[in-house]
Amino acid sequence: MTTMRFQSTRDPGITAGFAAALAGGLAPDGGLYVPQSWPAIAPEDLDGAPDLPALAARLIGPFAEGDALAASMAPICAEAFSFPAPVVDLESGRLAVLELFHGPTAAFKDFGARFLAACLARLREPRSRTLTILVATSGDTGGAVAAAFHGRPGIEVVVLFPKGRVSPTQQQQLTCWGGNVRAFAVRGTFDDCQRLAKQALLDQPLRESRELSSANSINLGRLLPQSVYYAATALALAGSSGAPVSFIIPSGNLGNAMACIWARRLGLPIGEIVLAHNANRTVPEFLDGAPWRPRPSVATLASAMDVGDPSNMERLRALYPDEAQLRGALSACSVDDEAIRARIRADYRRLGRIWCPHTAVAAEAYARLSEGRRRAGRWVLVATAHPAKFREIVEPLIGREIAVPAALAQLFARPSAYREIEADLGALRAALAYEAREAGG
Ligand SMILES: *Cc1c(COP(=O)(O)O)cnc(C)c1O
Repeated sequence: MTTMRFQSTRDPGITAGFAAALAGGLAPDGGLYVPQSWPAIAPEDLDGAPDLPALAARLIGPFAEGDALAASMAPICAEAFSFPAPVVDLESGRLAVLELFHGPTAAFKDFGARFLAACLARLREPRSRTLTILVATSGDTGGAVAAAFHGRPGIEVVVLFPKGRVSPTQQQQLTCWGGNVRAFAVRGTFDDCQRLAKQALLDQPLRESRELSSANSINLGRLLPQSVYYAATALALAGSSGAPVSFIIPSGNLGNAMACIWARRLGLPIGEIVLAHNANRTVPEFLDGAPWRPRPSVATLASAMDVGDPSNMERLRALYPDEAQLRGALSACSVDDEAIRARIRADYRRLGRIWCPHTAVAAEAYARLSEGRRRAGRWVLVATAHPAKFREIVEPLIGREIAVPAALAQLFARPSAYREIEADLGALRAALAYEAREAGG
């Protein structure tokens, strides 16, 4: 039996097994973990899988080979993939939409967060200290991570969000959990939240008082499971002809897109991959031939994609060390807020579909493809969130209320609670200790 290893994007000499890579998050040198070699998975091996959990176990199983978690892959996948990822036809066979918003917090991040939670829960020793998972969020991530870990014994989640800078609907999803999930409204920006989380992970006094980890999107345990819905969609649509399926993916940190690129690397029938970005143009400009120039993010309607320095670029470069090859493997486009609004209005009128602002970026990217490119392939828009999560933006554009899915309605009905803190490590230390005393007392 071979054992899969994962290596850092920076120093390939730094490697870890599956469980260690998930528990560590970042490699010790600050790089991201990528597979040291690619398991040989033939589409035929996956073809007969009866459902998403079975397909997930067959696709991810080889990455866990030789690892402590290998034997649990089937129950882990059953837990993580407990809701569907339907493909809905839009234009008789030419264009479809992959709906990734049927999970507990109505965004695609539920898949990765739930897979990671299912894995970390199984790695806990029965009597070890409580594990505190810190997550800085500008919106969707915090809710998905909180939902995935809520009620799990021996693990608590601390969500850090920028006070006054998330929408009321988002704030509710971050602060409605109670129990083992605590939310801190930080008097600062998202960047302050992220800095605080990083400082806390390295802080000696905190590390002595508790076990700390993070669950941010660069974790391998959030990325790998995202390959599964691309595999399922490509296999279903390619059918017996095997003609490749092309995806348009709303992108920010490139985690969702990276999972699609890995699925293509594994041999699944995937053709073009188009990265649909908002007004944060770092990636589109680079793929068009400009030098790589990360910059501060600008705020847009598709706020979960407001990223000026995408973290998964390191993984992309690791897969395509040659820049010309990298630029040939993908394309990208940038869509500003005005075009997002226009696309939401137009597709509601034309198709009766209501997009969230992120999905609208992908729909607009499709509309901008040349006629020839549109006709050459089968295209799939990736719908990353339910529009009800962004109802403050979408409802005025379409002139009606959006029906709220049952899972979200349940979250909206829960009481909200959070503590406000200054954007400094001392305040975070104190808040963590205070509430721990309260909870323990
Ligand atoms: C996080 C998020 C994205 C961006 O995904 P990345 O993996 O960061 O590229 C797009 N849409 C929604 C709704 C999101 O929550």
